[in-house]
Order: sequence, then C-alpha cells, then structure tokens
Amino acid sequence: MEITSTVEGVRSMVNKWRTEGLKVGFVPTMGFLHEGHESLIKRAVEENDRVVVSIFVNSKQFDKKEDFSNYPKDTETDIVKCNMAGAHILFTPEHDGMYAEGFSTYVDMETLTDSLCGQSRDTHFRGVCTVVAKLFNIVRPDKAYFGQKDAQQVAVVKRMVNDLNFDIEIIECETIREVDGLARSSRNIHLSQEEHHASIVIQKALRLAEMAIYEGENDPVIIQKYIKDEILSEKLARLDYVEIVDAETLKPKTKIEGKTLVAIAVFIGNVRLIDNFVC
Ligand code: AMP
Repeated sequence: MEITSTVEGVRSMVNKWRTEGLKVGFVPTMGFLHEGHESLIKRAVEENDRVVVSIFVNSKQFDKKEDFSNYPKDTETDIVKCNMAGAHILFTPEHDGMYAEGFSTYVDMETLTDSLCGQSRDTHFRGVCTVVAKLFNIVRPDKAYFGQKDAQQVAVVKRMVNDLNFDIEIIECETIREVDGLARSSRNIHLSQEEHHASIVIQKALRLAEMAIYEGENDPVIIQKYIKDEILSEKLARLDYVEIVDAETLKPKTKIEGKTLVAIAVFIGNVRLIDNFVC
C-alpha cells in the first residue's frame, strides 16, 4: 500500500491505473478506523481493481471547535488496518493541502440538509459536500463507499452526485455494530463504561419501533413516542431528534409506507450518537 499526503501523489497513481483500464473504488474517512470502515474498504476491494482510502478530519464539517480538536486519531493503527483490509493507496492530506489560503468555494445544498442532523449541526453538510466533492475530483473513482449509519450523508452525497453530474456510483453499506448492538463509531471511544452501557438504549428504542412497524403500526407520531419514551427511560441519555422521513427525499412522513428512514440522534453524556433503520 502506498501512502501519500499530496493531491499530485494520488492523481499520478490513479491516472496510471486508469490508462491500464483498472476500476477504482474509494472510501473517504476521518480516520480512527474501526470495523465499520474496514467493511467498506473490504467491499471496495471486492468490487474494484484498486482501492483508495482517504483519512482527513475535515474541520469544515464541525460546528464546535472542541469536537474537532477532540476527534480521535491513531494514524499508525489506521495504516495497519487499511493495509490488512486490502487498500492500495492511503491518502492523508494535510489541512492546508485541502484548504489553501484564500479557499472560498463551497458546495451547498437545499432541502435535504434542513432536517435531521442538518437542524442541530448548522453548516455540517456544507462542509461534508465540499470535502466529498474535492475528494471525488482528486481521486476520480468509479465507485465510492459510504455507511448507512450516516443515512442522511448517503442521501446528500447521492443527491450531489446526481445534481453536479459526478460520474461516480455511490454504494451504501450496512451498519456494523458492536456485540451489544451499538453502531460502531470513532466517537464511541469517548464513552465511559457506564455511558457505553447506557447507549444500549438506542438499539432498544429502534428495535421496539421496528417491531411495532412490523406489526402494522404506521403512524409516525406513535412510533416517535415509543422511541422518545424508551430514550427517556435512560437517565444518561438525552434525545436530540427522532425523525421518520422518506429515505430518499428526507421529507417527513405522515404515514409509514414506502421506503422509510427512522433516524435518531442521542446525547449520551457529551457524546452525540446517531443510528437509524430503513423499513
Ligand atoms: P467517518 O470516518 O466517521 O467519517 O466515516 C467514514 C465512512 O465510514 C462513512 O461513510 C461512514 O458512514 C462509514 N461508517 C462509519 N461507521 C460505520 C459503521 N458502524 N458501519 C458502517 N459504516 C460506517
């Protein structure tokens, strides 16, 4: 596996592959890799001739400075994990390599980013769209892999690819969980043992809702109440939002029918965790 922190470095290697007719898969990450990331990389390796992984903690998608500066980092272990998962290039740009002085062009999106995480994280998706567009232009992959854990991010990236005519297929990959059901996340490292235990309530609330829908309940208000009550029962948990929306447009549903996304964000102590299911 080659490691490069420069745009030119990635471009020259990928261009060479292209002239050889090889298909390129891409997995963008913010590092501190876990099994969720590894599953994306492995799938990309299966479905492409060559795979590029990027690690870049994108300051522009964080609202709060503390969250950005506290973002966990372990580059040495990440390199081993990328290698083991079969990646061919690890791209680790520096902040100034991505946002040189004078940087002033952003990709902004309407509607899809107003709900869910967009409500509580003001400029988050502007930062996500901007960095993903830049990375797509640098790597120019055939396919790019994203996790369903960040369901709104997948919907936003698909919309952007469509709206801006990126010639890239977006592949959505299932959420990988810890044994107790908690969705794997780089942020889980910030949970104390007690908080980690308390976070099980997220899974419990979602499974309860899934079961009720399966048994025929189709009123979003009732499903939302089941989830809220369950989250409230855990004293370390504070609900940020629970929303029931169309899985593609992210518009709120008045009745649960068609492809529906049930998404929640919960603070456990100071750690904000998100999870969802699609039915
Ligand atoms: P991040 O490093 O958190 O920005 O995540 C990079 C990519 O990994 C995103 O597409 C995430 O949706 C995906 N990802 C993060 N956690 C998981 C997980 N538990 N299961 C599957 N994919 C994940």
